[in-house]
Amino acid sequence: MADIIKNSDHRARLIDGKAGAAAVDAAAKSAAEALAVPLGRAAALAVVLVGDDPASQVYVRNKIRRTEAASMTSIEHRLPADTTREALLALVDQLNRDDGVDGILVQLPLPDHLDATEIVEAIDPAKDVDGLTAKSAGALVQGSKGLRPCTPSGCVWLARQALGDLTGKSVVVIGRSILVGKPAALLFLEANCTVTLAHSRTADLPAVCAEADILVPAVGRPEMVRGHWIKPGATIIDVGINRIDAGDGKSRLVGDVHFGEAVKIADFITPVPGGVGPMTIAMLLANTCVAAAARAGLETPKILQALEIA
Ligand code: NDP
Repeated sequence: MADIIKNSDHRARLIDGKAGAAAVDAAAKSAAEALAVPLGRAAALAVVLVGDDPASQVYVRNKIRRTEAASMTSIEHRLPADTTREALLALVDQLNRDDGVDGILVQLPLPDHLDATEIVEAIDPAKDVDGLTAKSAGALVQGSKGLRPCTPSGCVWLARQALGDLTGKSVVVIGRSILVGKPAALLFLEANCTVTLAHSRTADLPAVCAEADILVPAVGRPEMVRGHWIKPGATIIDVGINRIDAGDGKSRLVGDVHFGEAVKIADFITPVPGGVGPMTIAMLLANTCVAAAARAGLETPKILQALEIA
């Protein structure tokens, strides 16, 4: 396992998401190679990309590269932006029926004329490696077995790397989206934390945040969380990815946390970029192995169990 906690000149130590993702990618590769024997083939992840959103193109390219590097088969379907609902549903149905496909991911956002909820719901829950179907969400609420959403899983995994057992920690998640905030709150609950789920209507958000041992902003507002919001010694898992003007016609990425202030107060912090971001694909690869094993009636590979990924 790579050492993912890096010392910095400041007081807070950096939680290195790139090193964390490399460690999980390596575990997924070992798991995939072990699974290839009983499966008689490589585990396979199908990615469906509709339209030409530039950020999605980059993201899908990275997914394909890392899937192949992890000894899995990457199946790619690129469809034009004017793809009809019927054509997309037919493709999802075809992938559901294909026994050689273990995981299906429909890249979001979809073009406006397509209903993302309807399309995601069409995915067979056994292949729902993004963990976004109602069945997967229900399993998370029930605390029963199921595929967990990737970015929130990455958040919990990084917090564990910094702190070890999370039992009893107070966690404040800011943001209640289906993609990130809600599942993150439930996953920290599953890790025996005491969780507050804050949002745009939360009264006195700075005071709420100041109670958090672990603060998880997932908002999309650059540098919203200021230093005085942070409990001294807290761990910050910053999910936000925001592009801001850096002057000279250039731009740069920042999180939802004012890093310069936070680093003086927190004990551990994820940088942006290079924190939570890289973990999403890592968890997707791990989920693909979990799905491949479960579909074949096999146990989750031990290396993923040991990493507390599944
Ligand atoms: P959404 O826009 O769907 O949700 C944002 C949430 O933030 C909402 O629940 C909203 O509350 C809340 N919010 C908005 N303004 C405030 C405020 N002033 N105070 C408190 N809460 C507020 O975003 P996502 O959940 O999809 O993404 C959140 C961030 O995470 C984005 O920056 C996104 O880029 C990033 N992200 C990163 C990923 C990665 O690292 N791989 C993956 C996915 C997302 P309300 O519900 O009340 O409106």
